Amino acid sequence: MGADLIDTDFDELVALRRDIHANPETAFDEMRTSELVAAKLRAWNIETHTGVGKTGVVGVIRGSRSGPESGPNSVRTIALRADMDALPMNEEGRPLHRSLRQGVFHGCGHDGHTAMLLGAARHFSRHRDFAGTLVLIFQPAEETGGGALAMLDDGLETRFPYDEIYAMHNAPHFAPGTFGVRDGAMLASCDEFEINVTGVGGHGSSPEKTKDPVAASAQLICALQTVVSRAIDPAAAAVLSVGSIHAGSASNVIPSQAKMTGTVRTFDESVRARMKARIEAICAGVALATECEIAVRFYGSSPATINHRAQAEAAEAAAAEVFGPENVLREFAPLNGSEDFSEFLLRRPGAYVLLGQGGVYCHHPEFDFNDEVLPLGVRFFVTLALARLSA
Ligand SMILES: [Zn+2]
Ligand SMILES: [Zn+2]
Repeated sequence: MGADLIDTDFDELVALRRDIHANPETAFDEMRTSELVAAKLRAWNIETHTGVGKTGVVGVIRGSRSGPESGPNSVRTIALRADMDALPMNEEGRPLHRSLRQGVFHGCGHDGHTAMLLGAARHFSRHRDFAGTLVLIFQPAEETGGGALAMLDDGLETRFPYDEIYAMHNAPHFAPGTFGVRDGAMLASCDEFEINVTGVGGHGSSPEKTKDPVAASAQLICALQTVVSRAIDPAAAAVLSVGSIHAGSASNVIPSQAKMTGTVRTFDESVRARMKARIEAICAGVALATECEIAVRFYGSSPATINHRAQAEAAEAAAAEVFGPENVLREFAPLNGSEDFSEFLLRRPGAYVLLGQGGVYCHHPEFDFNDEVLPLGVRFFVTLALARLSA
């Protein structure tokens, strides 16, 4: 089937997208959204599983054609994933479909991602003449992280065993009508850290009776700058930032506590492990030198999003049919943001791809998903899935 023959029913897609946009829900609170998704899937006679990873929904479409169960041309299962959650922020743009909920806003375009995967679901519900199985994954809680792991912990891979998995994110920095996919790193890993420095407080005039956590923190922050500059290959990309530090309440009191938080980002799991190990070692060393207790804790972790080469090439080929080969971007810098789709790619082959849409960047208060690219996203999902089912 040619990509231009895929039925996308633009008006229905736009209505769906705007309905989701007007009724945004944050991580693990996607009750209305997941009910809407499940209701659509059921209306299209698609096998529907709800409550996968709290508010996640999975649709399963088995093709009506038979194929060999094993061997080189055996039937395959392809998974497509969309995220459903919104951000805890106010929308400052004034579209007609503006958020109806104060302080909650689809500022990352997950409304569009959900609508496009529903568009692909509707297409396949009407065109089941393929061999193999499609698993449509509507994931909660991408923004906070945790949604992908919640679904995996709920047995996603054993209940719906798939061979490959793909996800698409809108890209405001790419023009509408273009598409981007890289081999290897697409998005950085991100680990947040919290460091608690515990000393002994006292009078500012008698430092000898104290263990000063402020002076220890100053040493620590300087020493942490050597993690990237001295311990990591200069050709590797890595960032360590201390983003907050809090201690004390008066000029003449040495406090007993200091606390700092920061982030570590990179595009390589071995660099990531090395950075975390160096942070722990430096904390231990500064603790010894300053006689303070220093505890470090990592949280909010997301691995780097690393595309598998064969699947990135498959996405490129499908995109060339939909967007035209001249509009498929292959050479661009990976993004410094992070994504919990990385968790799926650590476990199964797949690719994360970018759908050009123009406009202001994600998380901007006037962001809005560009409805014009909805049909392109649906056509891409359908073309890719058909190609990979028979790959
Ligand atoms: Zn986001
Ligand atoms: Zn997003």
